[in-house]
Amino acid sequence: MPLSEFELIERYFARGPVARGDVRLGVGDDAAVLAISAGHEAVAGLATVVLAGQPPARRDPRRVGHHVLALALSRLAATGAEPAWATLSITLPAADEAWLAGFRDGFSALAERFGVQLVGGDTTRGAGVVTVVAHGLVPRARALRCDGARAGESIYVTGSLGGCALAERPGQTLRDSMPRVGAGVALRDLASAAADIPCGLARGLTTILRASGLGATLQAASVPLEPALGGDPRSLGGWPGVLTSGGDLELCFTVTPARAAQAEAACAVAGARATRVGYVESASGLRCVGAQGERIPLEDMR
Ligand code: ADP
Ligand code: MG
Repeated sequence: MPLSEFELIERYFARGPVARGDVRLGVGDDAAVLAISAGHEAVAGLATVVLAGQPPARRDPRRVGHHVLALALSRLAATGAEPAWATLSITLPAADEAWLAGFRDGFSALAERFGVQLVGGDTTRGAGVVTVVAHGLVPRARALRCDGARAGESIYVTGSLGGCALAERPGQTLRDSMPRVGAGVALRDLASAAADIPCGLARGLTTILRASGLGATLQAASVPLEPALGGDPRSLGGWPGVLTSGGDLELCFTVTPARAAQAEAACAVAGARATRVGYVESASGLRCVGAQGERIPLEDMR
């Protein structure tokens, strides 16, 4: 007997590990009703995973559940919001219980870690696609944005780059990456602009530069590589490969020279090493230079 939509929701999604006092209505009602604490704004960040497009290392349902929520939380992190709630859309060709149980486990473990309550969603039949909206709270007018960078500011990235691309190679083990929620919150009053980098540092940084009407130079020798690469970017296609490799749930941000040390320290306290990788310039476009100052062409980067 195939599971009805009602039974499926009841079995897998009606009760999660987190019960927040600010949820007036959650799963089971027509729409969620959520109380917003005084002096705060609501932030919404969305992520979609198309199951057919996933590399083999990512097809495991528990991983998909972790990954789609992690991506949505990473978007919130880039605004400095505290995560609070999530809504979830699941479209599957059939109600596969083993798949749903695995997905729910991966999703719930991450939700619990960040105190996020699942408050609603929709479940439909079709080609496999999962979408999560993560909802969070930030004190009024203090959200980090993409458009605040200024020429002369330093560019930082949290953590290291290339780990995700490396892990998707056959024979590698994939660890679940965690969104930089704590670092985002810590950077609220320090960073001038911030972005997440799910499609690579070059793309995330370009979002900031376009929004701010500026350009930048990246210093490849400073870019923090995934330790397993042993300091050598060649297996990912050299620096252009590292700078465009996606999946790392890190944050890119810009900061004035006066606040740089404080921002580094704030990230460290939040458990994220932040590394200076370049500087913002008024000349538009993204440039990359090597250790000897030689130009590294990035023409394939978008
Ligand atoms: P129906 O399609 O039978 O009318 P709904 O789509 O309204 O049912 O879903 C019933 C309840 O379950 C709603 O509160 C909805 O938000 C919730 N819901 C549906 N799918 C999910 C899901 N995948 N995760 C969490 N909540 C869900
Ligand atoms: Mg429905």
